[in-house]
Amino acid sequence: MIKVDENGFYGQFGGAFIPEMLYPNIEELRENYEAIMATPAFRQEFDSLLKDYVGRPTPLFLAQRLSEKYGAKIYLKREDLCHTGAHKINNTVGQIILAKKLNKKRIIAETGAGQHGVATATVCALMGMECTVYMGAVDMERQKPNVERMRILGAKVVPANSGSKTLKDATNEAMRQWINNPVDTHYIIGSVVGPHPYPEMVARFQSVISEEMKWQLQEKEGRENPDLVIACVGGGSNAAGSFYHYYNEPSVRLIAVEAAGMGITSGRSAATTTLGKPGILHGSKTLLMQTDDGQVVEPHSISAGLDYPGIGPVHAHLFDSGRGEFVAVEDEHAMQSGIEVSRLEGIIPAIESAHAFSALNQIHYEPTDVIVINLSGRGDKDLETYIKWGNY
Ligand SMILES: *Cc1c(COP(=O)(O)O)cnc(C)c1O
Repeated sequence: MIKVDENGFYGQFGGAFIPEMLYPNIEELRENYEAIMATPAFRQEFDSLLKDYVGRPTPLFLAQRLSEKYGAKIYLKREDLCHTGAHKINNTVGQIILAKKLNKKRIIAETGAGQHGVATATVCALMGMECTVYMGAVDMERQKPNVERMRILGAKVVPANSGSKTLKDATNEAMRQWINNPVDTHYIIGSVVGPHPYPEMVARFQSVISEEMKWQLQEKEGRENPDLVIACVGGGSNAAGSFYHYYNEPSVRLIAVEAAGMGITSGRSAATTTLGKPGILHGSKTLLMQTDDGQVVEPHSISAGLDYPGIGPVHAHLFDSGRGEFVAVEDEHAMQSGIEVSRLEGIIPAIESAHAFSALNQIHYEPTDVIVINLSGRGDKDLETYIKWGNY
């Protein structure tokens, strides 16, 4: 059974390993989020925004040319068609409504590539809430268009100048700020990471993906369950959302795809389950890439969204228990798959999502299998990377 326990553990992973000063914030959230999410008022506002603002339900598209090429029936869950171009907005919409119900006035968030920052700035503009996004100084330089997007939307973007000046440091900075402003501020975490209750809360907001997949498959295939679901994993929110309603359906294979970067043994990758060991990162016990004395190893992936040294605790448990199958895809192969999907289906995927497609080359399946690939985002944000790669 894949299920979170009351302390936020999935098997041996998860929990809330936090400094004492963060305790009141986390406790307030933990005590209230389930009750608030269960109210009809919350449900109604969430459903209506997902429909009319985000553009849900997202289509489940039968990719015929891709199916022909790979010899199975392949459907794409089109999260790339969500407002702002990826699945991240499902979670930020949920959390902003929650923040309002908790009477919060300010929102803070961390961001790596800027996608979660943009999704957060978007819902803050929608709700008229003050928004501050912490971003590594190096990432701000690398992801200028997203910095400007957030600013246009009215958010303040604050550089994190510690450590490697990337996502991990931005997360540390956001947590520090939250400790200092507990009463009026809500921290919107962007993936199924962080201390309990964040991983499960974010997964529940994203679980709309597999909820829709079930009735869409029923309509198209006469059955709710596919044979395989494939999704890429950075922190793991799009994967958790597309696996959620299939966790305890053993006939459905759950394929999680990590970034192997320049190669698993190259020292430049983000293949957490292959290389990681149990440890504590950003408030939860999980698998993470670390040195022998426990220092976090800098990850690398060509896709900024997968460039994270850890993995959400639910995925550490899916790996540990054998319920999930983990695959790692190198930069080069992901780029080739991105071009292939563009040519075969007329859809330029985000490079994160391209990793999920590339897994088709590494796993076995039957010609009669129904496969759903979660197309987590669109490739517009990655145009520069595609151009630099150039091989098309
Ligand atoms: C952020 C992002 C990811 C990785 O985040 P998860 O929490 O693992 O889903 C994947 N795809 C896209 C398009 C993203 O923007």
